[in-house]
Amino acid sequence: MHQIDRLLDKLTLERKVRLLTGADEWSTHADPDIGLRAMVLSDGPSGIRGVTWDERDPAVNLPSATALAATWDIATAHAYGAALAAEARRKGAHVVLGPTINLHRSPLGGRHFEAYSEDPLLTADLAAAYVRGVQSLGVAATPKHYVGNDFETERFTANVVVSERALRELYLAAFEKAVVEAGAWVVMSAYNAVNGATMTENPLLAEPLCGEWGFDGVVVSDWWAARSTVPAALARQDLAMPGPDGPWGDALVAAVRDGLVPEAAVDEKVRRLLRLAARVGALDGLTPAPATGTRNALTPDPATGTDDGRVPASGTAGGVPPAVAVSAEEGAVLARRVAADGMVLVRNEGELPWPAPGPRSVAVIGHNALQFRSQGGGSATVTPPYVISPLDGLRAALPDAEITWTLGAVTQEGLAALPIARLTDPVSGEPGVRARFLDSGGRELLSENRRSSDLARLGGSRPAGTTSVEVTTRYLVREPGTARLGIAGAGFATLAVDGVRVLERELVHEGEDFGGGLVSPPHVSVTVELAAGEAELTARLDGVPQGNGLTLTLGEDLAPAGTARAGEVEAIGAAAEAARRAEVAVVVVGTSPEIEREAADRATLALPGAQDRLVRAVAAANPRTVVVVNAGAPVLMPWRYEVAAVLLGWFGGQEFGNALADVLLGTAEPGGRLPTTWPGEETDVPVLRTAPVDGVVAYEEGVHVGYRAWLRAGAEPAYPFGHGLGYTSWELTDLAASPSEVSLTVRNTGGRAGKHVVQVYLSRESGAVDRPVRWLAGYAVVRAGAGQADRVTIPLPRRAFQHWDGGWRTEPGEFTVHAGSSVADLPLTARISAP
Ligand code: BGC
Repeated sequence: MHQIDRLLDKLTLERKVRLLTGADEWSTHADPDIGLRAMVLSDGPSGIRGVTWDERDPAVNLPSATALAATWDIATAHAYGAALAAEARRKGAHVVLGPTINLHRSPLGGRHFEAYSEDPLLTADLAAAYVRGVQSLGVAATPKHYVGNDFETERFTANVVVSERALRELYLAAFEKAVVEAGAWVVMSAYNAVNGATMTENPLLAEPLCGEWGFDGVVVSDWWAARSTVPAALARQDLAMPGPDGPWGDALVAAVRDGLVPEAAVDEKVRRLLRLAARVGALDGLTPAPATGTRNALTPDPATGTDDGRVPASGTAGGVPPAVAVSAEEGAVLARRVAADGMVLVRNEGELPWPAPGPRSVAVIGHNALQFRSQGGGSATVTPPYVISPLDGLRAALPDAEITWTLGAVTQEGLAALPIARLTDPVSGEPGVRARFLDSGGRELLSENRRSSDLARLGGSRPAGTTSVEVTTRYLVREPGTARLGIAGAGFATLAVDGVRVLERELVHEGEDFGGGLVSPPHVSVTVELAAGEAELTARLDGVPQGNGLTLTLGEDLAPAGTARAGEVEAIGAAAEAARRAEVAVVVVGTSPEIEREAADRATLALPGAQDRLVRAVAAANPRTVVVVNAGAPVLMPWRYEVAAVLLGWFGGQEFGNALADVLLGTAEPGGRLPTTWPGEETDVPVLRTAPVDGVVAYEEGVHVGYRAWLRAGAEPAYPFGHGLGYTSWELTDLAASPSEVSLTVRNTGGRAGKHVVQVYLSRESGAVDRPVRWLAGYAVVRAGAGQADRVTIPLPRRAFQHWDGGWRTEPGEFTVHAGSSVADLPLTARISAP
C-alpha cells in the first residue's frame, strides 16, 4: 500500500473532512497523530506577506507582474520565483499564492498589474518559469485564478460565457504549461463562474486540469470562493480557504453519511493534501525531495514502490529542506534589475539616455514621483522594508545636480495614510500611532504601537473578541488651516480632534466580496480646522465585523468625491515654472490605489486627476520633458507626441527610483517590451467592457483578444504588443524557417551593448479555420555588444500551429512565419508547411 494511503487509513471521516478547510485565514489543519503539520499559505504573487498583514513584518517587494512580463525573460521569471520561495521559507510559508495568470482581456481589468499579458504563450512561459523557480526550493506555487477571472467587476458571481476553443487556446493555455510542464503543486480556483458553473464546482477542475493535464496537487479555493457543501465536494475542489468556518466541516460529514458525497471523493482530496504536505516538508516520515522543475520531481521510489515518491525518513521528523533566505541585498539587487529590465521605452526623441555626467538640474514633478506605487493594491500587497521613490533615486544618482520636486497634480483619491514622520504615539512617544483593540465590554485586549495610520489585521494577529479598534496619534500640523481628515473601515466610525468629536458615521461594506471589503473599505471624511503644532487625533470603529480581517485607516482625504481639487491651476503652474527653470523635467504620472487594484475594474483608462493637463503644461515649458508612467496596466497618454521621451515603469517594486535613475542615466537599458497593447483612445479598444450584463460577461470575441483583436479590427494602438525601444538599434536578417524552428541573424547596429526581444509570429492566409490575423509563436531575448551579430534559433512549438476543435488539430497546408521586433514590425517572412 502507498505510504499516503496508509496514513489516510488511520483517519476517521471527521478527521479527514477537518483537513479540507483552513484552520484559520492562512493555515491548514495539522493532524499530529499522522505526522501532519499545518501548512501556511501566503500571498503572493510579487512578495511574501506571510500570515500577518502588518507593517512590522516587511517583505521584499519585487516589481509587479507586468514589469516582470515586460522583460520577456524566462530566466528572470525563474529567479523571481526562487526569490519568493526563499522569502516564503523565511516567513514560514509552504505555499506561495501566485503566479496570477489570468489574461489581460480588457485593459480596464483592475488586477492586470498582477498578471502578465494579453498573450497566452508569453503568460504560460513566464508562469511555468515562475513555478519552477518557486518549487525549486521545495515551496509550492499556486497558479491562479483558474479560470476566467480576467476582470474584477462582480467577481464573486459573474458568469463568463466563453467558447471551448477560446478557453483552450487562450485562458486554459495560460495555465497548461505551469501544470503540465512545470508541475505546479497547487492551483487556485477562481470566484467567478464559467459557462454556468462557479469555478469551485466547475467541471473544468476535473477536465482538463486533473484528468488530461495530470494535475495531482491541491485545488485551493480563492478566499471564500467555496460556497456549497455538496457540489463543491463532488467537484475536484480540495481545500476550502480560509477557515475555520466554511461550507464543509460537519455539513460535509453529514453529506457523506447521507450518501450525497462518496467518501472516496473526500479520500481523494485528503490524498492530494497529504501529497502536498509531503512535497513541502509538512508530513513526517516522508522526505520532501527538492523539486527539479518537472512534474516528475516526485519519482516513484524503486525500493518501496510508492507512487507518492517519498522515501520514508529513518525515524525522524520529515526532513524539511534547509531554510534559505534571500538576503536583503539580494532582494534589492533583483528588484532593481527586474524594474530596469522591465521598463519599456515607448518614445525617445533623442533624449535618453542622458549623457554623462547627467543634467545639472532636474525638475522632478508629480504626486507619483514622491508617493509612487511600488505595487498594486489588494491581496498582492506587502510591506516593503523601504521604498526608493523616483525623487530619492534621482537625488542619489545625481548628488551634485539641483533637483526640485513639485506636486503638479494630485493622483490619489480617497484616504491617504498620514505621513509617519508627523505622527507620535501618545502612549510610548514612539513614531506612529497607538492602536487599541477592545472587546464589547470596553476591555482592552491589546494596545500596541504601530508604524502606520493604515492598519490592517488579517490573520492570526487580530485579538479574539475584538469588537472595537481605536487609533490615537499626535499629528504634527505644520501649516495651520483646514484639512480633510477621515476614516476607512467597517463599523461605526468616529473621529475626535483634541477630544472633540468631529465625525460619526456607520460604514458598511456591502456585498459578498469580503476580500474586496478589506482591500477597499468604505470611507468618510470631514473638514477640520487645525492650529499649528500637535493635534491629538482619535479614530475609532465600534461594532467591527466579526471573523476574518480588520482594517482601519486614519488618513487625509486628498480628493473628496464631488469636490474640485483645490489649487489645481496653481499647482500645474508651479510645476511648469519649475520645469522652465531646469535643464530637464521628469514627470512621473500614474494611477492611484483606488482605481487600479483588486476587487474593482477601472472605469476609464485616463490618468486620474489633472495629470494630462500637467504633462502638457510641463512639456510646453521644457522641450526636454521625460514622462515616466507608474501604472500597472495601460493608461491613455494623449500628450505622448508632445514630450521628448515616454518610459513605462509599471509598479516598479521597492527599488523603482534607483532603477529609474539607472535607466535615465544609461547605466541600465530599459529592457522591456510591451506584454500588452497600449491603446491611444479608449474608443479604439476592441475588447473593452468588463462589467457583466445581467451577471454575464460574454467573451464574444472568441480567440481574438489583445493584439489579435486590434489586428482584426484594423485599429491602430498607441504602441503595439511587443514594442519597446531600448538604447541601441538592431537589424534582423537571413531568416530560415522549418516547421520546428526558425533561425535568423540578429545584429546590434548601435553604439552600445543592449537587449532585444526577437519575436516570431505565425499567420495563415487561407484555410477553413477562423484564426487571428497573426499570433505569437516564439521569441528570444538577445543580448549583444555594439556591432556584434548572433545567429539565433527560436523553436516553434507544435501547439503554435494547432487550433482547438474538440481536440488539438493541425490544419494541413502552409503557414507564414514573420520575424521582427513587435507585432507591428515584422520585416522578415518565410513560408513553411504545417508540421
Ligand atoms: C484573491 C487571491 C488571494 C486571496 C488571499 C483573494 O481575494 O483573489 O488572489 O490569494 O484573496 O488573499
